[in-house]
Amino acid sequence: MRIVTGGIAQETNTFQWQPTTLDDFARPGFGTLVRGEQILALDGTGTVYGGVVGEARRRGITLVPTTYGGVMPGGRVTRAAFDALSEEIVAGVRSALPVDGVLLVLHGAMALEDADDAEGLLIGAVRSVVGPDVPIVAPLDLHTNLSDEMVAGLDALVGYKEYPHTDMPETGAAALALLASIVEGASHPAMAHTRLPLIAPNQSMVTTWQSPLKHAIDRSREMEREPGVLAATLFGGFPFADVPFAGISTVVVTDGDPALARRCADELAGICWERRRDFTIHPTPVSTAIAEAMAGPDGSVFVLADIADSGASGTAGDGTALLRGLIEAGARSAAVAQIMDPEAVAACVEAGVGAEVTLTVGGKHDRLHGPPLDVSGSVRLIHEGSFPIAGPMGSGTVATRGRTVVLEIGGPGAIELQLTELRGHPHDLNFFRAFGIEPTERRILVLKSAAHFRAAFEPIATKVIEVETPGISSADLSSFAYERLRRPVYPLDDSVQWPGDA
Ligand SMILES: [Zn+2]
Repeated sequence: MRIVTGGIAQETNTFQWQPTTLDDFARPGFGTLVRGEQILALDGTGTVYGGVVGEARRRGITLVPTTYGGVMPGGRVTRAAFDALSEEIVAGVRSALPVDGVLLVLHGAMALEDADDAEGLLIGAVRSVVGPDVPIVAPLDLHTNLSDEMVAGLDALVGYKEYPHTDMPETGAAALALLASIVEGASHPAMAHTRLPLIAPNQSMVTTWQSPLKHAIDRSREMEREPGVLAATLFGGFPFADVPFAGISTVVVTDGDPALARRCADELAGICWERRRDFTIHPTPVSTAIAEAMAGPDGSVFVLADIADSGASGTAGDGTALLRGLIEAGARSAAVAQIMDPEAVAACVEAGVGAEVTLTVGGKHDRLHGPPLDVSGSVRLIHEGSFPIAGPMGSGTVATRGRTVVLEIGGPGAIELQLTELRGHPHDLNFFRAFGIEPTERRILVLKSAAHFRAAFEPIATKVIEVETPGISSADLSSFAYERLRRPVYPLDDSVQWPGDA
């Protein structure tokens, strides 16, 4: 069996003004741009391909790799970047013909400068090359904003069930297994999808606690054990995207039973709709959160999550609200990961290790994450900025944030601020350990992350506090000026009906 594969994966925060370019995809550690054998070399990593390649090997499937580009979440992808990657993939598929199937590795919430549904465009381009009879299957992110075009172009799709996304390899393997069974004629996929008139903040989709979305995800796992159901997927959607089809949707693939697929897709949607009021998040004010952490018992570790400035949701990561609060409160044993500020990094590098500096940090990328902040401190460390990811998410990969500085504010034992050249999302203990900071020995860890931090940090945290800060990954969806989103939609509109307004 010959399966051709490739893909593009990016999550677009349309409220981020800075577009995502081909250079971003090509910057190792920030993006992943791999071709041919480099794709197969991802075998065993904590990525989608980490699962796909291993599953192909176990099944004796010949995987024909083309091009795969993935990158940190951010602003809309430039048309030039999309066209370059898309044309490579389509050319690779064409030259691989004849093939038995296509596996496209996608995110599901990528938008372009001039198009809201990038995945729909890529799927359509590949379909036009392989024709209607070659099955195309895609593993997709839990934050997929599902368009009708994506469903129409795919024979089947399978979404992640965990957030943090610790099941990327399993999802990749499951998608390939499903594709193989379609190719062999053992499965005849019938797919139904349901889109709710409901958007929800990412923070309410977490699966390390019984979040509102998790009730439906638990049910989808049960469904997959019932006869005739091949894959049941619950998409939380990505609400920080002003596109018409953003929000919660469900997709169920059955073996030749469209009525069963429809019933299951509607049942999963119904579970979310019943709980729609529970998707509201109630973050804690900055000063309250810091005071609680400072009053904690000896040896305790408080994670203060800067959930509105999450690099994993495409923000710049230069928000200052929590750092300002720490300084005002005279916090001790506090480590901040991180503030992106290339200008401040350059000033610290120029001053050198051990130098005392006074500079303005953060708040420079846009006006949405708190004003710039004047700080004084001692440059303790200058680092080239790349380090291995330990897991449980993304193990075997390397992260890069450009040159990174640790600035000690308030003297030894007070505040350790990481300043970086590139944005990132601190979802791994090595975001501290790589820079000489032991996270289990700090009272306060400030993490600019909406949820992905939970996989690595909940096990070491005495308590996690979601903090009320401003930003473009805020859980307060009424703070966003949506223009392209379909209306009415809950919770922005009062009288939304489902079924009826989907
Ligand atoms: Zn996601």
